[in-house]
Amino acid sequence: MHHAVPFYFLLGLFLAAGCVPEKDRDHTNARHRMLHDQLTGPGRGIKDTRVLAAMRAVPRHEFVPEDVRFSAYDDRPLPIGHGQTISQPFIVAFMTEQLKPQPMDKVLEIGTGSGYQAAVLSGLVKEVFTIEIVESLAKRADADLHRLSYTNVFVKAGDGYKGWPEHAPFDAIIVTCAPDQIPQPLVEQLKEGGRMVIPVGPEGGVQELYLLEKHGGVVKQRAVLPVRFVPMTRESGAKH
Ligand code: SAH
Repeated sequence: MHHAVPFYFLLGLFLAAGCVPEKDRDHTNARHRMLHDQLTGPGRGIKDTRVLAAMRAVPRHEFVPEDVRFSAYDDRPLPIGHGQTISQPFIVAFMTEQLKPQPMDKVLEIGTGSGYQAAVLSGLVKEVFTIEIVESLAKRADADLHRLSYTNVFVKAGDGYKGWPEHAPFDAIIVTCAPDQIPQPLVEQLKEGGRMVIPVGPEGGVQELYLLEKHGGVVKQRAVLPVRFVPMTRESGAKH
């Protein structure tokens, strides 16, 4: 019976293939390739194994509109409606790594968008509070996060410039839209020893991603990467 091994091997493959819908398998394969090609590969260098595991686990295709789903794992940002975008996978991984997420952390995100970044953080920290200024995006992200069982993420529609004082202080704050200057309320809502990752600069112009750390009440900041984000908008009539 020298055919036995290949036969059962092929039968096994056949049965395994039948258990997982073809599309899901394609997405899983694309996601695994994304890790190697876009995150750990040459010129990229994401190293944090917890961050890589989170990027491997979160189904990015579930957070993008149907018409761009086939591009979900491409090396670029994608439109999510209302003129907004979901960031490129590398940027999500880079910002998450810079944030140094710890299992007991309470994290604030400004700019929920699709909810993808919040889902990546969900498995790495205790709680994620996330604010989105476009109400319909906030609602959709909230529904998607529920549907996919990310139960430690709390979404609010509103102006993230002001932070979320009721839940402050935060161990870490991640901002995924670009203000012209670092919003003072966010600095105030950062815990002693806390980290903030935030892109700063004009729309369409030179923006830098800054890493801030608060020690002894003093904030140290350094630019870590040139980036391009959608602008942080303000609710009408808002003053600084
Ligand atoms: N983190 C998102 C990508 C966000 S794109 C993701 O993983 O999909 C930036 C988002 O910031 C947009 O959805 C935009 O509407 C939102 N935004 C802009 N200004 C804001 C503000 N002041 N407060 C909260 N969200 C804001």
